[in-house]
Formats: sequence, structure tokens, C-alpha cells
Amino acid sequence: MPLTPGAPRRWHAELAWLPGRGVYSGVLIEASGRHFTAVTPGVAPGDCPPGTVALPGFTLPGLANAHSHAFHRALRGAVQAGPGTFWTWRERMYQVAGRLRPDSYLALARAVYAEMALAGVTCVGEFHYLHHDAGGARYADPNQMGRALIEAAAQAGLRITLLDACYLRGGLAADGSAVGLSGAQARFSDGDGARWAERASGLGPDEHGMLGPHARAGVAIHSVRAVPPDQMRPVVAWSHAFGAPLHAHLSEQPAENQACLAAYGVTPARLLDQAGALGPRSTMVHATHLTGDDIALLGGSRTVACFCPTTEADLADGIGPARALADAGSPLSLGSDSHAVIDLLAEARLVELGERLASGRRGSFRAAELATAATVAGHACLGWPEAGEIAPGALADLVTVALDTPRLAGTQAASALESVIFAGSAADVRNVVISGRDVVAGGRHLLVDDVPGALDAAIAPLLGP
Ligand SMILES: [Zn+2]
Repeated sequence: MPLTPGAPRRWHAELAWLPGRGVYSGVLIEASGRHFTAVTPGVAPGDCPPGTVALPGFTLPGLANAHSHAFHRALRGAVQAGPGTFWTWRERMYQVAGRLRPDSYLALARAVYAEMALAGVTCVGEFHYLHHDAGGARYADPNQMGRALIEAAAQAGLRITLLDACYLRGGLAADGSAVGLSGAQARFSDGDGARWAERASGLGPDEHGMLGPHARAGVAIHSVRAVPPDQMRPVVAWSHAFGAPLHAHLSEQPAENQACLAAYGVTPARLLDQAGALGPRSTMVHATHLTGDDIALLGGSRTVACFCPTTEADLADGIGPARALADAGSPLSLGSDSHAVIDLLAEARLVELGERLASGRRGSFRAAELATAATVAGHACLGWPEAGEIAPGALADLVTVALDTPRLAGTQAASALESVIFAGSAADVRNVVISGRDVVAGGRHLLVDDVPGALDAAIAPLLGP
């Protein structure tokens, strides 16, 4: 159904999880335009006004994928064969990066974001560093690649926070010396932080950092490997000027910590803190290999930690200290990062399952905490605090999971959230509403006809010799 601004809409959820409240049955949900106007549990189907849409199954707020590199989706499967490390995976990833152009990136990202919508994702945080043409030359519009991602999200029906990443050098060697850019990395760099800021401003955000009704500007320091500390300041200043979320990869690998200590005498978390990059508007992605002091720094500053457990497992990164970070004060959010799979329910349960494997104890995180990471906290860390809840005034996102699937048959109302978080799958998502608009109905994407076909067509030219 096309969205008519201001037109009232109503849904009746058989079961719904209302963050901070719990699971309720018979929830009448009303919206006008992009926002919810009323939420009333305990309404019998027969008491709903005419035109109310029935949502059988279990309804959640929209899921936020807080950390995405859309083009990594092309590597799924291709990087699963044989041995290797994070660093050998990275070389393969650069091969794909080297082939993308604005039109092919638009086609790929549109298909990837459509896959996300089918999985219940209503907002994506795209950590974007593939800025320039082959060899590093700027496009006629230096933000052509970023604009392709914003357009891709529009075509797939999602909201996007474009986390425009500053990426200036190839890395840090084990002795702490800087490594120059090589190969595809030349496409990532603006030369220095000031030129990064000048290009990012060319995206044209308004004073609130908005790039369109569905798009918001964010910024990123790729990592302490890719950005020297003196070049982090322009990124931090840009974040303050526009109220923009600031994200960074943090301590994904022990080698990053060792190189950072050799170069600067401090951990990556301490270095980012010294640059003013920590705080409630900041999100540190992975946060896998942290010291006790690092955890206190992140928690004490209310910095968000974004875990990407399927990618962290896929890349043999390790298991991050999720419970310790949460206890220290860091909200948790979730991302599918390299898109080894796109399934936020899997990301959520793997936070708890990782804790169990690492600690030998069960139940560090309740299902509601994991669902909060996938919804409320995820949207907030992308700069959309008005999303991620089913409540009056919130952006009207709904994700309905079928309970009559082989995975979820037998679900009981009292433990429905536990069933969905610990056994549910992206394949169980049936209906998705984003900002008041139907995007997925009956498991079918309404804006992208053939999502697998779109993925096939976009990925094939990027692989092979
Ligand atoms: Zn990443």
C-alpha cells in the first residue's frame, strides 16, 4: 500500500513485545503517517475498527543493523573455503572493492538492503569507506558512492545512517610504524582529515544532520590503524557540528592492540578517548580484545558497543566482553558487518551464547536485553532515538515473525520472546513496516520484486577472474 501522508493505519498484533513493558496479546497499534499514535494491548480481534490489518505471530519493533559494509555481501561463501585469517580475508575483500563503481554499487546495495528488509531490518548503519574511483581519483561528485548507498536504501525501503568513514593509511606494522595505502585502499582515502571533512560536508546535511527523510549523516574513524590521532579531530568536530553519530572499529584483533601500543604507548580505546571520540553519541564496533581499563573507559563514557557475533566468529576474531561492557555502562547494539549471514536474531542470541562459551555460565543476558540491543539501542546509536519502540510518537516500524514455522511451532505466549530470540530466524519474518509504509508482506518484498535474482545479478560480475 502506498504511503499517504497523515492517513491513519491500524494493525492488530496477535502477540507483541513492547520494549520496557513485556509481551502482550491482542495489541491494537495505530499510526498516522510515519509515527505511531496509539498502542492498546488486550483488544479482541472483533473489537478492532474496520480496515485493521491482522498480524498473526509475534511482532517486534523494527530491527536496526548498526554495522554494515554492503559490498562484503558479495564475498559470502567465496571466503568460507580453506584456512586463513582476518588478514587473508581482507585481501579477498579488497579484490571486490576494486571492481565496484557507483552504478554496480547501487545495484548491489539495493539488493543487500532488500535482503535486510526481508530479515526485519528497518534501519541500516552503513560504515562507508569506498569513496573514490580506482587509483583514488575523486568522482565528479566526490560523494557519488555515498549517494548510491542512500539511493539504494530508498529503493529497498529502509532508513539509513551513512557513516562516512575517514580512512587515511594502510595500517600499523607490529613495530608501530605506519603502513602506506596500497591497491584498492587508494579508493578509501581523502588524503587527510580536513579533506575528509570537506568532502563529507558536500553530502549536504541540514543542521540536524539529515540527508533526506530516510537518511541521516553519521561519521566514522575507520580504526586506529587507518587514522592517525592528529587526523581524528576533524571527524570528531564534524560529529559535534551536526549531532552526528560517530562510529569506529575497535580492537577487533590482538594485532591492532599490539601495534597501537608500539606506536602510541596506549590501547586503541585510550587513543580514541584522548581524541575525544568516546561518549554517548559514539559506537565502538567489535570491542573484542579490551583491557579492564578499556571497559571502564567505554562504560564510564556511555559509549555504545556494537557486537557483530556472526562476523566475529567467521573471522576468528574472538568473543568480546559483552556482559562486562554492559555492566560498566555501555549500551549494546548489533550489526551483521561482513554479512556472512544477515540475521539480527542470530546476532542477538550469539551475544549470550558467546558469553556462555567463554564463561561456562548460562543466562548472562535475558532475551529482553538482547531484543533491546537489536531494536531500541541499535536505532539510538544510528541517530534515530525516535525508532525501535512500539509506542505513541515513535517511528512506525513493525516486524512480525511467523510462529507457525518449523522453528517456532509450539511457542507459548509466556516465553514467546525467548523462542523468537533463541530459535527464530530471518526466514521467519513475514511482515515489515518501515516508517509507516509496508515494505514486506507475506514474506515478499514489495519494492524489489526478486531479491535473490537482484543479488545474483549484482554479485556475479564482482567475482571470478
Ligand atoms: Zn566493519
